[in-house]
Amino acid sequence: MILTDLPEQSLERFGEYPMLYAGEREVTNLELQDSANRLANGLRDLGVQPGNRVVVCMPNCPEVFIAYQGILRAEAIVLPVMFVLHPREIGYILQASGASAIITSQALLPAMEQATSGMETPPKLVVAGIAQNQPSPNAGIPCHSLCSLMAAADREIQEPELKEDDIAVILFTSGTTGQPKGVMLTHRNLYSNAAAAVRLAEESGDEPGTTLGVLPLAHIYGFTMANTLFLRGGSMAILPKFDVRMVCEAIQKYRVEAFSAVPAMIYALTTAPEVEEYDVSSLESVGSGSAPLPISLIEAFRKRFNAEIYEGYGLSEAAPTVSAHRKNETIKPGSVGRAFPGVEVRIADDTGSPLATGEVGELLVRGENITPGYYNNEEATKAALRDGWLHTGDVARLDEDGYLYIVDRKKDLILRGGFNIYPRDLEELISRHPAVAEVAVVGVPSERMGEEVVAVVVRNPDSEISEEELLAFCQERLAKYKTPRQVVFMDTMPRNGVGKILKKSLREQVAEQVE
Ligand code: ATP
Repeated sequence: MILTDLPEQSLERFGEYPMLYAGEREVTNLELQDSANRLANGLRDLGVQPGNRVVVCMPNCPEVFIAYQGILRAEAIVLPVMFVLHPREIGYILQASGASAIITSQALLPAMEQATSGMETPPKLVVAGIAQNQPSPNAGIPCHSLCSLMAAADREIQEPELKEDDIAVILFTSGTTGQPKGVMLTHRNLYSNAAAAVRLAEESGDEPGTTLGVLPLAHIYGFTMANTLFLRGGSMAILPKFDVRMVCEAIQKYRVEAFSAVPAMIYALTTAPEVEEYDVSSLESVGSGSAPLPISLIEAFRKRFNAEIYEGYGLSEAAPTVSAHRKNETIKPGSVGRAFPGVEVRIADDTGSPLATGEVGELLVRGENITPGYYNNEEATKAALRDGWLHTGDVARLDEDGYLYIVDRKKDLILRGGFNIYPRDLEELISRHPAVAEVAVVGVPSERMGEEVVAVVVRNPDSEISEEELLAFCQERLAKYKTPRQVVFMDTMPRNGVGKILKKSLREQVAEQVE
């Protein structure tokens, strides 16, 4: 199945209906398809060729859906980029991908000017929110109005000649552990994973209803929501950013029963007092992925919302879901559920040989959803794809019921005086302290021990807990070799666009502060 078939299939199965709500706007599945066709023709008129890379960089809005489908219909490749990135990071992605065009919004033009400055042949700019073509505000780069480009183009397209193994998307990972890499995903990768998600949802007996598009559509978790929406039916209230009030208002207005989020959003919803002002009683469940979800947070969320959390695990390279908890099955807090249909998982030692149930090793994954490799990065591809398995770089274990537990990221492992320490263990413990709002444990270089354990803590607003008190809390509960040497307090954690703590930059910041 090719992703460009999805809108057609949606129209055949469900007829025309409002698929997206964005503020006062409603957009039907037929309107999405028509606009996407016009954009495809418009992009071709601008000179975009089959196989070219086209960046989409703007906050969540219906135009993102239109852009994704329009680019694919022009037989080009979608490059979703999170708008919160620094222009320098956007510039890196533009260079590394050789993008031929950027679809963006007016507010982001200064960032795009900076990102493209100094490029010999900068990508063409297509801008949402401007009525006619005009130069960009500072550098005077020609900007094509998205709206007039679509208005001038035909709504009939030449049927795209795409195959299932053609690259549909290149996603640059957020680089939480190093330089971002462009994960290539084919139509087959993305369709098979979205179809598996839809099958599970249909088996659960739930009606699709209206969900929330609060995860960035430029992240793989958000991107896949666009595909599942076409496949499953139902509607999505699109939010331009995460904001507790906006989320609660939308839950109340559309009687939302379920949506996907990340732990940072779940934490904010669980602790924000303003939630009390809304009727959020329709909410039955939230899916969580992309980062570890502390067990203490699961408990607090359940109490506050009288709703369930289904934690799953995935990565861009797996388009994205590898495992998830399922409705009507036992929920095991701390686990990321069972392998998705069509996805095989294996826990392996350093040679790739399988380990026994319960043993801790690297998680390997294979299935139709796995990337064929990284764009223009043979070396990284060879390192990640070996013997037919994707080496995830995550350390995990499986229990006797096939439930998967992510122990940590291999790269975040702390090596202290010959011992392996998994930060996640310590984070689980420290997050249980009532004074702690958030915690991240990192290793920093130490002459004596190789690495030393440092806990970075954001205190609850009403707490004044000291470093000594927190260290004593850890000493009472942890083996000596694991106990953090120091606690560093911060006001906020450095995070990426999906709220994931950027441990690499945290390590750098902390290394400067550690005695
Ligand atoms: P980079 O790979 O460049 O550091 P990234 O981490 O943002 O960037 P993604 O593909 O967005 O790349 O994230 C995938 C990673 O997120 C997984 O490899 C895993 O470490 C982590 N992850 C995802 N879901 C969970 C989860 N439920 N629990 C713990 N970790 C998770």
